[in-house]
Amino acid sequence: MAKLTIQDLEVEGNRVLMRVDFNVPLKDSDDGSQRVITDDTRIQAALPSIEHLIKNGARVVLMSHLGRPKGERKAEFSLKPVAERLGELIDAPVAFADDCIGEEVTTAVEQLANGQVLLLENVRYHNEETANDSAFAAKLAAHGDIFVNDAFGTAHRAHASTAGVTDHIDTCAMGFLVERELKYLQEELREPKRPFLVIMGGAKVSDKIEVITALLDKADSVIIGGGMAYTFRKAQGYGIGNSICEDDKLDLALDILKQAKEKNTRFLLPANNLEADAFGEDANARYTEVYGPDGKGGISDDWEGLDIGPEAIEEFSREIATAGTIIWNGPMGVFEIDKFSKGTKAIAEAVANSDAVSIIGGGDSVTAVNKYGLADQMTFMSTGGGASLELLEGKTLPGIAALSEK
Ligand code: AMP
Repeated sequence: MAKLTIQDLEVEGNRVLMRVDFNVPLKDSDDGSQRVITDDTRIQAALPSIEHLIKNGARVVLMSHLGRPKGERKAEFSLKPVAERLGELIDAPVAFADDCIGEEVTTAVEQLANGQVLLLENVRYHNEETANDSAFAAKLAAHGDIFVNDAFGTAHRAHASTAGVTDHIDTCAMGFLVERELKYLQEELREPKRPFLVIMGGAKVSDKIEVITALLDKADSVIIGGGMAYTFRKAQGYGIGNSICEDDKLDLALDILKQAKEKNTRFLLPANNLEADAFGEDANARYTEVYGPDGKGGISDDWEGLDIGPEAIEEFSREIATAGTIIWNGPMGVFEIDKFSKGTKAIAEAVANSDAVSIIGGGDSVTAVNKYGLADQMTFMSTGGGASLELLEGKTLPGIAALSEK
């Protein structure tokens, strides 16, 4: 059955308690007197739901976590700067409460007129938040007649503000952001436009193994790039020098290769790599030979594979150009260092230029797409790292499972 969404709600005059993900990066101002937001993407991502509630006359109470204060009131993790930034973005004052529970908060909520917004202080100033303490969840829930969860980035966590509150409020719906994430990371992938191509990269096989396994059945092709490819190459018997590798995952890598064969899924590892003698912009770097059946093409002893090579880029780009749906999670190399960023940039461009439905998993691939100015050319970019992976693995996210049915 479908879950209730924000559009199904009658909100006028009601106190709507909405969990958002305002976990934005902050730094000290130059004179050290205040904290400033360095990237407000997450605030922007919550605007459609916030503006919808304002327009429809809700009394809006927002709550979020920020960083990991671990149950202590630490000024560096205060959401106060977020209230100010949100006020600028919606062009209206945003009230701020010094805590997320307690009498003063109750009073501030009571004072809200229809269409006004109050942001509560960091829910993780209380240890009960991550412990999903029921009494704490009840205190949070007391601020709302209706609950909306629009915090996709924490939807995979069963915390008091994401799941616990739903035990104490009857009407619990998802916001627009969560709805969009589900549309692209779940619904769109039930019947993907074919060929369906999965591109996985990043440092570790272990982070993405479950996604790869879950999608092997459904995908027509899988591309593996980044550091995780070396675990596969070592498992195949090639030299990988000092490249990153998870030795305890070699059997698993072989099993995945075997499964792909059985399922008739095209499984592409980089045809060659860029290897370097050090990890940095000053390193010497060179392309390896193409991997061949005769053991040719491994990474040299004492060198490290840090990007994919030109033949790999060409082969991957060809695969991308013919895809109907692409899901991409994880860079092809150490793209933070220019010298090792060519592969990731080329793959980002190929995905951007393809006619496929392009879905970018959260985290570093989103950072890369933004870095190369290609965001506009992607169908969808997820705001969640862990949450988007868990959704792709086919797992139920507690923050979504707990919402009311329509
Ligand atoms: P992940 O968070 O698993 O998506 O991994 C992203 C990180 O993987 C980025 O910081 C990359 O620098 C890193 N990475 C990608 N390729 C390699 C590689 N060949 N060796 C080491 N780190 C890599």
